[in-house]
Amino acid sequence: MSSTVAFIGLGHMGAPMAANLVKAGHRVLGFDLVPDLLAASAAAGVEPAASAADAAAEADVVITMLPAGRHVLGLYREQGLLAAARPGTLFVDCSTIDVADARTAHEAVVAAGHRALDAPVSGGVVGAEAATLTFMVGGGAEEFAAAEYLLAAMGKKAVHCGAAGAGQAAKICNNMILAVSMIGVSEAFVLAESLGLDHQALYDVASTASGQCWALTVNCPVPGPVPSSPANHDYRPGFAAPLMAKDLGLAANALRAGGVDAPLGYKAAELYAAFAEGEGAGLDFSAIVRTLRPQNGT
Ligand code: NAD
Repeated sequence: MSSTVAFIGLGHMGAPMAANLVKAGHRVLGFDLVPDLLAASAAAGVEPAASAADAAAEADVVITMLPAGRHVLGLYREQGLLAAARPGTLFVDCSTIDVADARTAHEAVVAAGHRALDAPVSGGVVGAEAATLTFMVGGGAEEFAAAEYLLAAMGKKAVHCGAAGAGQAAKICNNMILAVSMIGVSEAFVLAESLGLDHQALYDVASTASGQCWALTVNCPVPGPVPSSPANHDYRPGFAAPLMAKDLGLAANALRAGGVDAPLGYKAAELYAAFAEGEGAGLDFSAIVRTLRPQNGT
């Protein structure tokens, strides 16, 4: 099935996702506030639109890939996007935003006579380019079924997580696990160093014992045991620390809103916020191990 898709937000993630929709045979009308990004996507077969509303007016499906909730809500509420779209248009927001904002966005779309899904992704720019993203989707079952063929053109897996906001909820819960486990693995390596225990020896035990987790066996924060991990490549991301800090900020908002007592989640958010603003700005999130060593050594 070939559709006309409006794709709003052609940044690091949106540009390759839109290009993959073109490759899959869809007509893609693109818009970004940055003219150079629009031009770059045009070279990949995306038709540049004069505005987001112009793109939406002709589309069956409107996909947004924007920095934060305020951008999504601003576009939906203030910039005429919902009014411009044909009744029943499917709005799929792939940005990572607050659960509360996602629910508000969903309500605004439905109130305007359209259909909505939140569908944040994991897999990063590499996954966006290779069309191997995982989508975590919130919204109705019918809407999910209606979007699956498009998600399949941009990713390898789409999980229907529940009602509006459930996709964003799954994303921040998963990334809170990841952050806490990365800090735990990093602290264990630093403790091993202070005890004279070799990195490889700890890895050989923990990777096949109860300490096993993705932060250890795929994204190992010290060089050596897992040659493909960012630690072996000057901590080039990977999953950049500022993106982890952003997701943990969203998790902390949700923890506060729900009155959930999560000492490790809050602490992880605090540590990653400080790291992302400082030396971690351009590094993979696993580089946080450097800040955990005595005197901040490397
Ligand atoms: P980005 O900043 O590269 O792209 C966002 C784009 O949105 C920018 O090009 C910006 O100009 C555009 N934009 C903002 N407001 C707009 C508006 N009103 N109309 C049109 N365009 C507008 O960000 P990104 O790295 O592509 O990330 C996008 C989203 O995906 C974020 O929510 C991020 O948290 C999430 N995400 C990113 C990654 C990653 O590895 N980069 C991984 C998973 C999820």
